[in-house]
Amino acid sequence: MLTIAHSVIALAETLERRWKSYREGGEFDHFVEFTLSLNGLTEQLNRQHLPGLVRACQELENKALALFVDPSMHPVAIDQANAIERHLAIILNELYRHETPAVQGRRSTDPQDEPGEAWNQPREVLLVSRPGHPWAASLSEQLRFFGFTPRCQAWEKEAPAQEAPLAIVFIPDREGSAYPPAAVSAIMAMRTQFPTSYFYCLSVPSNLQSIVLLQRAGADACVPAGNKVSDVLSRILDLVETREQETHRVLVVEDSPTAVAHIRRSLSQHGIDSRAINDPRQLLEAAADYRPDAILMDMYMPFCTGVEVTSALRQIPEYQALPVIYLSSETDIAQQVEALRLGGDQFLTKPINPIILASVVKTKIERYRDMLYSGRHDSLTGLLNHSTSKGALETLLRQRTGASKLVVAMLDIDHFKSVNDNFGHPVGDQVIRSLAWLLRGRLRNTDLIGRYGGEEFILALPDAELPRAIALLEQIREDFSVLPHAHSHGALRATFSCGVAALPDYSTASELIEAADQALLQAKRAGRNRVIVAPRPDQGSVVRMQVKEAAGR
Ligand code: GH3
Ligand code: MG
Ligand code: MG
Ligand code: MG
Repeated sequence: MLTIAHSVIALAETLERRWKSYREGGEFDHFVEFTLSLNGLTEQLNRQHLPGLVRACQELENKALALFVDPSMHPVAIDQANAIERHLAIILNELYRHETPAVQGRRSTDPQDEPGEAWNQPREVLLVSRPGHPWAASLSEQLRFFGFTPRCQAWEKEAPAQEAPLAIVFIPDREGSAYPPAAVSAIMAMRTQFPTSYFYCLSVPSNLQSIVLLQRAGADACVPAGNKVSDVLSRILDLVETREQETHRVLVVEDSPTAVAHIRRSLSQHGIDSRAINDPRQLLEAAADYRPDAILMDMYMPFCTGVEVTSALRQIPEYQALPVIYLSSETDIAQQVEALRLGGDQFLTKPINPIILASVVKTKIERYRDMLYSGRHDSLTGLLNHSTSKGALETLLRQRTGASKLVVAMLDIDHFKSVNDNFGHPVGDQVIRSLAWLLRGRLRNTDLIGRYGGEEFILALPDAELPRAIALLEQIREDFSVLPHAHSHGALRATFSCGVAALPDYSTASELIEAADQALLQAKRAGRNRVIVAPRPDQGSVVRMQVKEAAGR
């Protein structure tokens, strides 16, 4: 079941209060405060991986932003205020409904409890199709394998009153033709009932009209006709996958102290961290030290212009793609074009609207991070690549305290060469992808999952007790061994072997990896398709076979 943290509930309560103040007095300032706290709530929900709620909040933000242009529009017309209030009520109801003080309270006081998210959190997916649609059957079988709880439902039936599912997948009767009006109405009705679920429409024809119509009805993702069941599955898994939600960091290069104060206050109200320098000559040092995700650059400064600094910055490979946003009272269009041509990304004219500033900064940073993301992730599986997973493990270890627990596992698919030899490389790729999906579906958002080599994976499970981690790995191993992988003449089964090492027996990243690798080798020698734990360093070469013992707990 979805549970909403107290911190989020507190934000929701502030939001509600601010809306009430605005309704009572109709003052623009109150409206600004309302929009700011709405923005804060969206951020927080995003950090907690609640995409449906994030979408609902973003829609409301867009409604509010449209009323932001002109303070004299306030108080806004009754029907506009009512529309916002209805939308707000849907979001607040959903949040308050899932508040579970008992669970949250116990978690924070009881040190015995497993911190963070549980490994067996159910993730419900509703599949809407005509009864017996083959896609519904195969998707639901696969979803179950990957740790979801699928439920099938007919188009014409009303969904039972229940928890909002994580996602709803709509499967039309006919592939690639426009959704019939009855289907569109059904989607709309579901959207009202489940404002916070993520909606996928499958087999959507590639024309804008169809996509716009479905988006209006409430679709979040339109999956084009011709996509395979496996593509849909990987998109559902993307929903639950973690994306590091680091704070946005902005370096402000600006010589006016007043402008700096104004900009930094606006940024911090939107949860954006910043640092300022008043002399562009300090830029490289500040950038190396602070590692910003974007630079806000004044146009006119004592030593040189913002344009000169930016084009110099672009000469350094590390900063070629770092977003640079110019701030200036410049109104001359020709100069702005020149400034952009020389390496800037955007131009904002002073005085700067704080909401626009924050949203431009965030959008640029998201794009930039997306670009970095593809450099750090493996394209076949979406997992962290080799060097990034090593780096992430080192980061986890740097954050450790004396009592920290951490289990590292190395997995390698057994006799994989013969899969390629007998069934071809594409089938081999699909086996690798399936194992990646299984891991993504079964592990927590806080666990590290990387593709370490061709058919080799690395896992790091923070805050995990060794016996529990072994039981989990055993479960994944067993489930993988019965997972069917389709090939042209039927289906094949594959297995993996796994070596495990943990803190405090081994303490550095390379010791943990080396020990887990040795245990993996032992698992291969002992006949494959098994999990083996590395011996304590003082136990020499005696391998602890904890498998049976742990699985029984
Ligand atoms: P073992 O049980 O000892 O691990 O045997 P194995 O056959 O799995 O071991 P080996 O390391 O000899 O073979 C790994 C093979 O994986 C060799 C390589 O061609 C294949 N491989 C590596 N990367 C990929 C990939 O991205 N896709 C596919 N299809 N095959 C890959
Ligand atoms: Mg200046
Ligand atoms: Mg292998
Ligand atoms: Mg290998």
